[in-house]
Amino acid sequence: MDKEKIDSLISDLQSKEVTLVAVSKTKPISAIQTIYNLGVREFGENRVQELSDKYTELPKDINWHMIGSLQRNKVKYIAPFVHLIHSVTSESLLETIEKEAAKNNRRIDVLLQIRIATEETKQGLNKHEISELLQSINEGHYAHIRCKGFMGMASFTDDKKQVTHEFESLQHIASQAAEDFPKLDLSTRSFGMSGDYDLAIEAGANMVRIGSLIFGSRNYN
Ligand SMILES: *Cc1c(COP(=O)(O)O)cnc(C)c1O
Repeated sequence: MDKEKIDSLISDLQSKEVTLVAVSKTKPISAIQTIYNLGVREFGENRVQELSDKYTELPKDINWHMIGSLQRNKVKYIAPFVHLIHSVTSESLLETIEKEAAKNNRRIDVLLQIRIATEETKQGLNKHEISELLQSINEGHYAHIRCKGFMGMASFTDDKKQVTHEFESLQHIASQAAEDFPKLDLSTRSFGMSGDYDLAIEAGANMVRIGSLIFGSRNYN
């Protein structure tokens, strides 16, 4: 994408009060620096090693988002600096994040990843599991964690109706949970990627994770 198009994407999202997380996985430092120079400060990665390396090399005012599945034994590498973990999918992961945040004498913000049934491969929590986790967060078991809301993905399909329906399901689960736990601020809705962020925003997303639209398509070797 050229600079003008990225600028207009940025201002469009700003006018809608939607936070842009630029997903820079597989992309080099120089590409991130270019987007940084356009004013973007939120970047997302899905691998711990890559996230840590880029954190080390890039300016310290970047907010780094962990958006990919996270193994418990790797939490310690990102705990000192990570801004928001989008991918909490189990109570045991939450416990590890709590422990590592405490060791670093900080609080770590997280989102609970919601799974909707359609794609078996997608990770995440169902309604019941979300309710249980929020219950124990609400009871104060995680002093070093702040749960800010929810992350979710729709199926990869050209069927816009289906995608919209899935985002609405995610939004429904999220707002129900937020209503059930009014003491927690669960307002973040990280729904939507390059191909479907407009549909996600219509369904209530206030944070989008956009990679290829900004950085160009990815080459995996
Ligand atoms: C890669 C990735 C994205 C960005 O995908 P694009 O289609 O390139 O925008 C968003 N969310 C997650 C969880 C990802 O792994």
